[in-house]
Amino acid sequence: MKIKIFLAICACKASVFFLRLMGRGGTAIPGKIALKICPELLGHLGKNVRTIIITGTNGKTTSARMAEEIFAQSGLSYFSNRSGANLINGITAEFAGHAGLLGKPKKSFALIEADEAASKEVCRFLNPEVVLVTNVFRDQLDRYGEVTNTLESILAGVKNSPEALVCLNADCSLTVSIAEKIPNKVIFYGVSLPIYEEKVEEVSDAPFCIRCKHEYEYSYHTFGHLGGFFCSQCGYKRPAPDIAVTEILNRGENETSVMMDMFGSPEELSISIPGGYNIYNAAGALAISEAMGLDRDTAKKAIADFSWGFGRMEQFDMGKTKARMILVKNTAGCNQVINYLGNLRERSVFVFCLNDHIADGTDISWIWDVNFEKLCDLGEMLESVYVSGIRSADMAVRLKYAGIDGEKLRIFEDYGELISAMGSQELPVVIIPTYTAMMALREKMSAAFGGKQFWE
Ligand SMILES: [Zn+2]
Repeated sequence: MKIKIFLAICACKASVFFLRLMGRGGTAIPGKIALKICPELLGHLGKNVRTIIITGTNGKTTSARMAEEIFAQSGLSYFSNRSGANLINGITAEFAGHAGLLGKPKKSFALIEADEAASKEVCRFLNPEVVLVTNVFRDQLDRYGEVTNTLESILAGVKNSPEALVCLNADCSLTVSIAEKIPNKVIFYGVSLPIYEEKVEEVSDAPFCIRCKHEYEYSYHTFGHLGGFFCSQCGYKRPAPDIAVTEILNRGENETSVMMDMFGSPEELSISIPGGYNIYNAAGALAISEAMGLDRDTAKKAIADFSWGFGRMEQFDMGKTKARMILVKNTAGCNQVINYLGNLRERSVFVFCLNDHIADGTDISWIWDVNFEKLCDLGEMLESVYVSGIRSADMAVRLKYAGIDGEKLRIFEDYGELISAMGSQELPVVIIPTYTAMMALREKMSAAFGGKQFWE
């Protein structure tokens, strides 16, 4: 057995190395090779690592990154699957990458984002200490079928985690139903009031009681089917959360501050990224922290310091590939995005969309202060750069001055053409739009590729 483990880890590390040499990132293939050699590898590698699993339809990545900030500030020795490879192959490769050749772990904790459908197997091998389920929404129907299938997959994962403390979103009627089917200790977290003043009209993914099929009533809504649900027929209802957002103090352009009740103690929390969905992500990250018994003030500070202040990181499924959208507004924010792009480990396509409406800022001279030169360091990792938007010509000039190879640069006058060019890509796409460009693109992309994944 030891020989098998050794060979599998060697093969995994070697294939990661060779893929990088060829200018390709990714951990799926190395993980697949390793599991071919030793199908139980993940179980062996996870044995002496205390693992935290994050799953659910929306908000996995942001919740994981916030939890990671808490881990870092708490001084834990940990690793995570930051690359977003959240299926069993990629997760196995992460564990192999953080182990010696004989399988001895180099870190004490693993913070793992797991795909809903993969969570069953991942949990079975890793026997996690904490599992966070963010929510269950209808998503990628072709892959999972009905929303109840997604719920079943997640439930199977939780059932394979007999020792885990399970953190569940109290506002999601589907997620809450997991609590009734497991013996584990549960921490519920939720938002106890509407996040927006006006009710957001959305189609509910779960209008009917999961127990008796009677239509739910709501005392308030936050997003989609999330909120104060109750069934007047059988009495199934939102449980009182252990960690609850009780008041929204300030909803700023770059941050949100809220009052929380954490196990009976009132706490003020500042969340360093905007967007109502990030309130849930922050509460989920805090639930993990509480489940692990980490220092609460350190955790709150980590959420306040969380450094994705620049944008929303929305993720879109575009058929053959995924696109991430990161809003930019100014030099400082754009420089943070450039830093992020400069650290990508996968060969990618970047799309800059520059508009100059009032909401974008009519003066676009700030692009000359952004360190686009740094993108040249990416070399072959940068497949091409598309530019679009009202001021695409200015943007193209700026990138040429930065030293971007003219052959890699393409200008799209029309969003339709841009979207079909992105849609035919197989490499990951990162879109960096200004505000009005983001709004226009998001709408057109939702129309072209269906669904919106606004939480990531
Ligand atoms: Zn009912």
